[in-house]
Amino acid sequence: MLNLKDPSLLRQQCFIDGEWCDANDASTIDVVNPATGERLGTVPHMGKAETQRAIDAANAAWPAWRKKTAKERSAILRTWNDLMLANADDLALIMTAEQGKPLAEAKGEISYAASFIEWFAEEGKRVAGDTLQSPWPDRRIVVTKEPIGVCAAITPWNFPAAMITRKVGPALAAGCPIVVKPAELTPFSALALAVLGERAGLPKGVLSVLTGDSKAIGLEMTSNPIVRKVSFTGSTQVGRILMQQCAPTIKKLSLELGGNAPFIVFDDADVDAAVEGAIASKYRNAGQTCVCANRLYVQDGIYEKFAEKLVAAVSKLKVGNGVEAGVTQGPLIEEKAVVKVEQHIADALSKGARLMMGGKRHELGHSFFQPTVLADVTTSMQVAGEETFGPLAPLFRFKTEDEVIAMANDTEFGLAAYFYSRDIGRVWRVAEALESGMVGVNTGLISNEVAPFGGVKQSGLGREGSVYGMDDYLVIKYICMGGV
Ligand code: ADP
Repeated sequence: MLNLKDPSLLRQQCFIDGEWCDANDASTIDVVNPATGERLGTVPHMGKAETQRAIDAANAAWPAWRKKTAKERSAILRTWNDLMLANADDLALIMTAEQGKPLAEAKGEISYAASFIEWFAEEGKRVAGDTLQSPWPDRRIVVTKEPIGVCAAITPWNFPAAMITRKVGPALAAGCPIVVKPAELTPFSALALAVLGERAGLPKGVLSVLTGDSKAIGLEMTSNPIVRKVSFTGSTQVGRILMQQCAPTIKKLSLELGGNAPFIVFDDADVDAAVEGAIASKYRNAGQTCVCANRLYVQDGIYEKFAEKLVAAVSKLKVGNGVEAGVTQGPLIEEKAVVKVEQHIADALSKGARLMMGGKRHELGHSFFQPTVLADVTTSMQVAGEETFGPLAPLFRFKTEDEVIAMANDTEFGLAAYFYSRDIGRVWRVAEALESGMVGVNTGLISNEVAPFGGVKQSGLGREGSVYGMDDYLVIKYICMGGV
């Protein structure tokens, strides 16, 4: 078992209406460590009935929660943030065990996750309305912002803590209760956050976390008329299903979906900086983030030089169990993920790509995979159109700025894009031409709580984090004040 300073953080029950509980039929799901194949424990396999209970509890808790002052809610959130940071070592160990990412990355995610709670604790105090110029002399126009109501969140396994706090932070700060369904592969991180939320003083029902049958829970969350807003992070495919399910009750919806990030290196780039950015963007979390570089476009003049330097840098990555010192790449989340990477490599090689390094399962077994670099990749290969979500860097060659912009935008996705150039005119032109919600210029790392995260096209709807992230949890009310 895990060597935690506070073993009570590892819960094998769900948190509904302020109570720790099992599924109605006592059924469970196993949670497995992807680095070892070891069973870490179980969590309840809940469904429709338990989801209804959590939604009813949220609805019952709403009036008192929205009545609190923003400052009172902020104080609870601030305590929650402090508890997350104080327990960061344990939370990181739990995350590495169930998700696989190296401990240093897991610790980084805990502070990133806490930063959303801290940020929205502060932002909640700044929600403000307007008074507008009235066209009538005897009436005044007042605009207020109110919490939207009961919210539901469905989150993925690649950021088991931060994808939760990025939704829960603004919901709670705005005065909304929220029911969370974490990914079944990484539920312990979510439940540990709930333990700390309870300790921080969140009233019962305001935050519930439940695990189990994702289809049944998702269907209830999207169809129950009490729920006013659903926020989802995950695949575009599931996002489409949830959007359809939300249609009959016209729910407000936030979607953070798949990406297919281009990473462009122009001839005038600082090549060493570009290699460093490519490593950070491509191999973080073993390539399993929706903002990971998926297609690396390198201009003709520096193609070979960049490829050589990239291979040298990739060969320094250390693959292993994330709890071991010095490991920079853990296992992939599951066998299915390995198969997809293998498919993309086989498809590219069969169509003429050149293997520069890696390409195979790692000798450590389980779902470990060798960091891989492919050169001479072309647009006809699978990897050009689909997110690999693994440690594979495919290098495409291009000649002109117009050509690379067309290739970069030739995708249904539009989440993140990156490019390296030192020509100021080109920097503005390319940043404006890329069809994506986020652009990293001369950097491969862009996410933080201050900046708006989100996509265009089929990468999603809405923005999370930042001053804009609160809007998704608020509704505008117009009050026309007559009799003046
Ligand atoms: P990923 O590729 O990250 O696994 P998914 O979209 O499959 O992306 O999963 C993201 C989240 O969506 C997880 O919590 C998963 O359990 C949940 N999920 C998957 N299918 C459904 C569904 N049909 N309805 C609701 N939630 C779902």
